[in-house]
Amino acid sequence: GGDGVPGRVRVAVRLRPRNAEESTADADFADCVELQPELKRLKLRKNNWESETYEFDEVLTEFASQKRVYEVVAKPVVESVLDGYNGTVMAYGQTGTGKTFTLGRLGEEDTSARGIMVRSMEEILANLYMETIQDLLDPANDNISIVEDPRTGDVSLPGATHVEIKDEQSFLELLRLGEAHRIAANTKLNTESSRSHAILMVHVKRSVLGEEVAIPTESDKSSHFVKPPKPLVRKSKLVLVDLAGSERVQKSGSEGHMLEEAKSINLSLSALGKCINALAENSAHVPIRDSKLTRLLRDSFGGTARTSLIVTIGPSPRHRGETASTILFGQRAM
Ligand code: ADP
Ligand code: MG
Repeated sequence: GGDGVPGRVRVAVRLRPRNAEESTADADFADCVELQPELKRLKLRKNNWESETYEFDEVLTEFASQKRVYEVVAKPVVESVLDGYNGTVMAYGQTGTGKTFTLGRLGEEDTSARGIMVRSMEEILANLYMETIQDLLDPANDNISIVEDPRTGDVSLPGATHVEIKDEQSFLELLRLGEAHRIAANTKLNTESSRSHAILMVHVKRSVLGEEVAIPTESDKSSHFVKPPKPLVRKSKLVLVDLAGSERVQKSGSEGHMLEEAKSINLSLSALGKCINALAENSAHVPIRDSKLTRLLRDSFGGTARTSLIVTIGPSPRHRGETASTILFGQRAM
């Protein structure tokens, strides 16, 4: 479902390559999945002879670049956020399968390694700057002049874009700080960072002039002192969610705080699953209020909003069970 259609969840699956340990320890065993990216299909092996086939909106192999993953999973969402709609991109999967790699990687040394968070912000920044250039190229807007309100003396630039956002460098610092705080909080609570959700919200606010609005021009001296029309403000929000690991937490050994934490993660992920299913089924009742996570996503979900989900999986035959449950989570979202 949902080929970029608002209100439907687009679901991609991404396979992580084998790591060093899996390459040696499991060398004699086949991967638990086989991908057919052109057919957008994934086969989950049951045994040596049988497998189950699943279809996704996108199937990303272990060779898929970060750039390609961004382009198929996040770019359509970011573009619609730039058009004034809300949007969400989430990564769901077992710990160690590449959620943070997919979303949160900074790629400071090697820009090709950058994940969805940095790429999305790059695109938003580029577009906001580009809009200024576009204003200059727009025949209706190429005479932007400083207009002063004779009464208050306020200076305004009708039609110019107002951006309350810092540059990419300061965004990277922000992301680094967030990650440092995430690690510090987890150290304090003696938990793993894989047991928390990391959420980045980008508020995009754009001033656009309505088409019916006349702009004072140099030659039109008479209109110079006319108070400029109020620009329309279009606000939207991009929410990027690096979810907690989806693996079933062992009940044995988890006690006290750890058990409480496990319960609340299970609760928020299952609440998320229910909301996604409700959207997929076009159900009138989306149980948004069941968890803080889903309440947070309230205005980014359903309606005119666009949502992409990338489910991340590992190749190891030892994790076939977790891989199967991740695949099912993705399937139910479609
Ligand atoms: P998660 O956030 O799901 O727990 P991570 O993103 O931390 O998983 O990934 C676990 C490990 O696997 C990291 O060392 C990461 O660099 C590596 N990894 C994940 N996805 C890929 C990929 N597509 N290609 C190469 N390495 C990957
Ligand atoms: Mg992670």
